[in-house]
Amino acid sequence: MEGTLSAAAMPRVAELLSDSVTGEVRVSLTFSRNRKSVILVEGLIDGTLPVICQRCLEEYDWHLNHRFRLAISDSLASGRQAPPGLELIEWVGDSIVPAQLVEEEILLTMPLVPVHSDESGCNALSGSVSDGGHELRVDKQADSDAAGEKARPFAGLADWLPAQDKSD
Ligand SMILES: [Zn+2]
Repeated sequence: MEGTLSAAAMPRVAELLSDSVTGEVRVSLTFSRNRKSVILVEGLIDGTLPVICQRCLEEYDWHLNHRFRLAISDSLASGRQAPPGLELIEWVGDSIVPAQLVEEEILLTMPLVPVHSDESGCNALSGSVSDGGHELRVDKQADSDAAGEKARPFAGLADWLPAQDKSD
C-alpha cells in the first residue's frame, strides 16, 4: 500500500505543526499475517512537515524518514506474542486504519522539542542565547502529553537542561 497523506488529514499531528498546516508525507505500508490474529506491518514514512523551532519560534521544515515494523493483534488478552524484536500492539477498534497507524508513528518520531538542527538557520542563535527559553520548552512539553506518554517525554530534553537540573 503506497500513497501520500497530508498533514491536515492527521489532526493529532497537525496540532503540533505550525499554523500553516501544509506538508505531506509519502507512505509505504506492507501488511502481512504471520500467525492467526497477528498482523505484521512494515512501513516507511518520508516527507517534510512544518514545525515551530522552540528556540527562535520560527517555522522550519522537519524532514522525516522513518522506517518501522509493528506487530498488531486484535487482543493481547490471550497471551499472543510478537515475533522477536517486535512489540505487540493491541489494536482497539473495528479495523486497522492505515492513516491512524501512520499518525501514531509520526507522533512517536516527532521531536518533542523541535529546534533547528542546523544552528546557522536558527535565529535565536544568531544573536545571544537567552536563558528565558527554558520555561517555554517546559510549557510546550506539557501541551504535547498525548505524544509524550509513549515517547519517553524527557529523553529528548536531557541535552537542554542545565547541568544542575539533572540531579533528580
Ligand atoms: Zn530556531
